[in-house]
Amino acid sequence: NKKAMTSLKQALKTHFGFNNFRSKLQEDVIKAVLRGDRDVFVCMPTGAGKSLCYQLPAMLSEGITLVISPLIALIQDQVDHLKELNIPACSINSKLGMGERRLILADLGSSSPKLKLLYITPEMVASPSFQPCLTDLCSRSLLSYLAVDEAHCVSQWGHDFRPDYLKLGELRARLPGVPCLALTATAPKNVQEDITKSLRLNSPLSFVTPVFRSNLHYDVIFRDLLPNPYVHLHAFIKKALAMENDSKGQGCGIVYCRTREGCETVAYQLTKLGVSAKPYHAGLKAGDRTEAQNDWMQGKVLVIVATISFGMGVDKANVRFVAHWNLAKSLASYYQESGRAGRDGLPSSCRTYYSPKDKEQMNFLIRQEVARRQEKRGTAKESDKSAITDFEAMVLFCEQESCRHASISKFFGDKTPNCAGACDFCRNPKMVRAQLERASALSTK
Ligand code: ADP
Ligand code: MG
Ligand code: ZN
Repeated sequence: NKKAMTSLKQALKTHFGFNNFRSKLQEDVIKAVLRGDRDVFVCMPTGAGKSLCYQLPAMLSEGITLVISPLIALIQDQVDHLKELNIPACSINSKLGMGERRLILADLGSSSPKLKLLYITPEMVASPSFQPCLTDLCSRSLLSYLAVDEAHCVSQWGHDFRPDYLKLGELRARLPGVPCLALTATAPKNVQEDITKSLRLNSPLSFVTPVFRSNLHYDVIFRDLLPNPYVHLHAFIKKALAMENDSKGQGCGIVYCRTREGCETVAYQLTKLGVSAKPYHAGLKAGDRTEAQNDWMQGKVLVIVATISFGMGVDKANVRFVAHWNLAKSLASYYQESGRAGRDGLPSSCRTYYSPKDKEQMNFLIRQEVARRQEKRGTAKESDKSAITDFEAMVLFCEQESCRHASISKFFGDKTPNCAGACDFCRNPKMVRAQLERASALSTK
């Protein structure tokens, strides 16, 4: 066994250039995947190194690992990175030219394909032109693993639902004997169950990082009580960014708004107050959006003021704060969005600017969406109820007199963490109560 271990570490070094596993969890997942006798479910935060959990086993196995990932851009990044490491990886997608596509299919059809990792989008899985190739690989026992990245996309209860992910259950059924690995960064209990069911995972081994992150400081500010909310936000940003301005370079931050207009207004107000901020939303031209993202990634702009379309796949270490100008649509989404702060492990701030008016609007929007979905479908579903209860959990997070970290951990089914002053309630419960009292006085006026 010790020998097996040295050779695993050796392979890690040879193929990926790493001396050690990121964590015990990463190592445990990889060993479980390599055993190959069980399906595996992995929930680790972004940046924890989930990709390696299928990439290393892929290199150590006979055949090809099929990787499903939701976005061509994410796939391209990974494939480029693997190619730099001299790892035979490629992607079949709608953007591929005929010539390249034919080359790949020829390799896959050969008696011993050179390819180790094949990335595809879920749309591609469903494409009739690609079906025979997969069935053929499977019948020749050349598929080592099926890895489904961003597996929460399969769940209507989660954020980022993609209908095409639902087809993966059928794919799974057509690949008997190929162990499946599902990976995601956030999955509350109900989403976990949904993933297991939709992907038809067979009593999977589950590897889940506890949700509590002690370096994140959470607080909630009632926006309607503020004389000038923009000045308040500006002060928060100044403070959050001042915590780190030494050799490691200036930190940066994200402000999330619900609407495009909200993004524009907040970015304008912050700029006026002297912080460099840029809006990011679907109403911008693609070029402007990319520029805003790049400027922020490179630190030319400190604050990006964005709708939730911003962030998937963004991995930036020194995000010192995430502020929500509007309420997130569920506690799961909020945990995911706010969790983009502090990936480097340094203290970072997560703040929600709460307003009951906002709550009413969001509540209306969610119920409207649920009704529309039901109408289209003709029936009600469990997931409809959960869209509403997940939102209610978000509201409770803001309105309850209790530890914010505890609320999050409880929601995800974890035990109560030791917050140790990493939220406004644990630091100063009297202030939280005073704010709630002032808010309720305001609402009955
Ligand atoms: P995730 O998918 O969990 O968000 P990634 O797989 O994209 O994370 O990995 C995040 C970063 O961590 C990548 O730059 C990757 O190369 C790096 N990484 C992964 N495993 C290790 C390791 N064992 N040692 C050092 N760096 C690692
Ligand atoms: Mg990933
Ligand atoms: Zn607390």
